[in-house]
Amino acid sequence: MHKHQPLIFENSTPGRIGYSLPEMDIPELDVSELIPADYIRSEPAKLPEVSELDIMRHYTALSKRNHGLDSGFYPLGSCTMKYNPKINENVARFSGFAHIHPLQDESSVQGALELMYDLQQHLIEITGMDEVTLQPAAGAHGEWTGLMMIRAFHEANGDVNRSKVIVPDSAHGTNPASATVAGFETITVKSDENGLVDLEDLRRVVGEDTAALMLTNPNTLGLFEENILEMAKIVHDAGGKLYYDGANLNAVLSKARPGDMGFDVVHLNLHKTFTGPHGGGGPGSGPVGVKTDLIPYLPKPVITKVGEEYVFDYDRPLSIGRVKPYYGNFGINVRAYTYIRSMGPDGLRAVTENAVLNANYMMRRLAEYYDLPFDRHCKHEFVLSGRRQKKLGVRTLDIAKRLLDFGYHPPTIYFPLNVEECIMIEPTETESKETLDQFIDAMIQIAKEAEETPEIVQEAPHTTVIGRLDETLAARKPVLRYIKA
Ligand SMILES: *Cc1c(COP(=O)(O)O)cnc(C)c1O
Repeated sequence: MHKHQPLIFENSTPGRIGYSLPEMDIPELDVSELIPADYIRSEPAKLPEVSELDIMRHYTALSKRNHGLDSGFYPLGSCTMKYNPKINENVARFSGFAHIHPLQDESSVQGALELMYDLQQHLIEITGMDEVTLQPAAGAHGEWTGLMMIRAFHEANGDVNRSKVIVPDSAHGTNPASATVAGFETITVKSDENGLVDLEDLRRVVGEDTAALMLTNPNTLGLFEENILEMAKIVHDAGGKLYYDGANLNAVLSKARPGDMGFDVVHLNLHKTFTGPHGGGGPGSGPVGVKTDLIPYLPKPVITKVGEEYVFDYDRPLSIGRVKPYYGNFGINVRAYTYIRSMGPDGLRAVTENAVLNANYMMRRLAEYYDLPFDRHCKHEFVLSGRRQKKLGVRTLDIAKRLLDFGYHPPTIYFPLNVEECIMIEPTETESKETLDQFIDAMIQIAKEAEETPEIVQEAPHTTVIGRLDETLAARKPVLRYIKA
């Protein structure tokens, strides 16, 4: 990449044009009749004056400034940045899928309904639940939907004092956020020295006011909660429900099922585990699976099969209602369906085995150079701590920035919150051993630099167009214009 390659907009030349139209040979419309006066420009917009070739180069140059999965390794823990097979894109573009309208009569979209119904059946089998809704548009949306169903369930049973949702301290930030938005109070349960939920602490916080325990297994440290059946018993005995955050199912596909571990509700992120492209903010898909006693509360309409026909069932008096216009992000569901059908059960089992193998391989090779807070087998991801480097004056943020110079997207950092200087790596199953080794070599080099030439790490990145941003300012006051205002 040429670091200082100017963007073509900066080369605007008066009078140069990118596109020309023939002389107008019809009478001009009076725009003031069509558009309110307030909206009409008094002078033309200040657009850059460039040729068609210039503008193409401008956008191509811009696209190269971004790091995407298709341009390089992206080991972002908890986000499952795995390869998105291109066959998914082909199928999503079938005109029968891409060109239908959600308001069409059911009889004219039977194929799309069949796909959604079938996808639900596959997800039921994968999770061990009894019914699934495809409506929620993301993981967090699925969490909220699941919690609203749990709330409706307790209320329908006259159990109106269950105001608390228990969340481990290692949980994804969306868990306490969703619980709060669903009107619950969040209670934190501690992790023990092995990185697992502390059972004593759980017994202490569970009570008659417990609506649910929200849990991830493997948890956000990439560790399998071995006492899950015991935890399920503690919560169920107290009348609470168990919620499974299944955003990252890469570690258990075709191996273990939330339904068999005692969970009552689970959400999945089809845009993570099931290869929906993500990272740009959507669209996603966060289906929710439930056990029998929560089925009446599912969002409506529910897609069902009557005889040979697929129909929307709106006759659901206890439903929490619709949670998304129409029926979910259909295009992402098509991609996930294509993925599940092309992998098959054996393929999905291989996904898990390779995801776990890759993570353990990388963890063991890096453990010599970085602190490993929990020294045991991990699942699909693992956490390191940059404590050792911090003592040398190199922060985890510096390590992440230095990785940009090697052409990698950095891992997730400073999360989970219960590990100091946390570095959370998820290699995924779709990367080759060569890629894993190259990344490991870069991490080892950075560890050595931290000891010998720390300023190289502290001042990174050196090769990107933009160095370090004030991230708060960039989020609050983004500069979206090419001309300085
Ligand atoms: C990504 C993720 C979520 C949230 O999913 P979104 O689709 O981003 O809303 C929730 N929990 C875990 C563990 C995740 O990794």
